[in-house]
Amino acid sequence: MSRKSRKPTFIDAHAHVDNVKTYLENIRRADIEVWINAIELSEINEIVSVSKSIPSKIFIGVHPSRADRYEPNEFLKRMGSVKKVDGLGEIGLDRRYGIPLDIQLKALRDQLAIAERYDLPVVLHTRGSVKEVLSEISSYSLKSVLFHWFSGSTSELNEVLSRGYYVSIGPSIIYSKSSRKVLEAYHRDRLLLETDSPVYYQPLKVEANPTLIVSVYYALSNLMKEDINVVVENIFKVARSFLKR
Ligand SMILES: [Zn+2]
Repeated sequence: MSRKSRKPTFIDAHAHVDNVKTYLENIRRADIEVWINAIELSEINEIVSVSKSIPSKIFIGVHPSRADRYEPNEFLKRMGSVKKVDGLGEIGLDRRYGIPLDIQLKALRDQLAIAERYDLPVVLHTRGSVKEVLSEISSYSLKSVLFHWFSGSTSELNEVLSRGYYVSIGPSIIYSKSSRKVLEAYHRDRLLLETDSPVYYQPLKVEANPTLIVSVYYALSNLMKEDINVVVENIFKVARSFLKR
């Protein structure tokens, strides 16, 4: 249950705290490391408390759907209260949330500046906004960048990979051909896997919890025609290189 470096294990590179606490025993038994991403600052105490009982990494941030609640001083204060922050997330842009774009941009830029200043990796939400986010992040010197649940085009994917950024994909590779374009990132040591728990996956008729990550690993192992142990080891190395440790 330590957060120290450990042997290769399944990694759920993107989940939210909501249902993680209900599955702690299952997560431990399945040997899964969970990267818990914040949606808003009020979750941070709970994230810290949950992270103590499972292998985990802590990402703090204000999600684009809550950008109107972003407050820079509050952010730094909360960040200072966490013993070890592994990165900033989940931050980004998304027009579908109805929060004015200028408000989303302000929160994003501010958080990118914090990531730069503290030399922390960032996890980005880029639904329908890959190009804009790519242009936003160009002005910052960032330690490492993950495009979570990548859903952009093939040319956007090529741009993301050629700039050395990482992408993650989740259970959609089980049922969606178009989301499998990100498998290219696996060949380039830039792919991570996630569940985005507690998202409900209609085609699978299941509300995700981090133990669903095991099925995502097996799906990738089948698609790549590679032994599951090799896949686990490869993704583990990619994860450590993203975290830069
Ligand atoms: Zn998320």
